[in-house]
Amino acid sequence: MNRDKLLAPAQMKHASASAVSGLSSAPGMRFADYDSVLTQLSRRLHLLERVDDFVCIDLHAGQVVCDCNEIFHHVYFPLTARLAHECILDDGRSIELVTIGRNGFAGWPVVTRSGSMPFRTIVTASGTAFRCSEASLLACLKEEPWVEARMLQYVELMFAEMAQMASCTRLHSIEQQVSCRLLTLADACHAARVDTSAVALSRALGVTARSVRSALHALGVAGIVTHDRHGVLIQQRAALEHRSCECYRVFKALYRSSDDSPSRSEPGSAY
Ligand SMILES: [Zn+2]
Repeated sequence: MNRDKLLAPAQMKHASASAVSGLSSAPGMRFADYDSVLTQLSRRLHLLERVDDFVCIDLHAGQVVCDCNEIFHHVYFPLTARLAHECILDDGRSIELVTIGRNGFAGWPVVTRSGSMPFRTIVTASGTAFRCSEASLLACLKEEPWVEARMLQYVELMFAEMAQMASCTRLHSIEQQVSCRLLTLADACHAARVDTSAVALSRALGVTARSVRSALHALGVAGIVTHDRHGVLIQQRAALEHRSCECYRVFKALYRSSDDSPSRSEPGSAY
């Protein structure tokens, strides 16, 4: 598998505060105040003269950014890339625990000071992400408790999502799981079309590709989605929500509640 340390310097560019603040925000999703967090990080890293450690890089599908029980030396903030934490079994099988898209970050052990975790962090969709070194992020968090609070809040949400996912994989049908996953991915990229495949979905859900194809076929026959080798287009969103299990509703409520949280506040204000 490719490793991020193999990235050529030419693929990187430094993140300026103005470039970060120019990004559009996604309300109601995951990491509340995502762009404010990135902007604040960028500003503080400039002040600390550590901006060279905050760079925009290309990530490639299949790239492992940190393997099971390895120490995280960087934190990743996806822009167009998508990452996942995966549980790897002794026989090589794996299951996706949580997806990390725009408005999330990979590398929670840096923020919780636990160093490592028993999961693999892998890129599931190629794209760009900001990358910050562990040392620079910790130096920044020391000066920016608001940013640290936001990041810890995201970690809490991620664990809640993983708990719900555990129930989902045990108790809900594959068609329900596929529907839920498609809706979640569509929300993450703000589009009706999701770049994924039956193989990628089966890997994420820990089921066979054949069973995912069967679920996609049933949804296709009903006119709810169309799909090809490269992606799935949601044609009837309301119908897909109806086919999904309750988990999609739970995830939406989870992140909506984080946006409404009284602890959510702008940098510099009391919290
Ligand atoms: Zn479910």
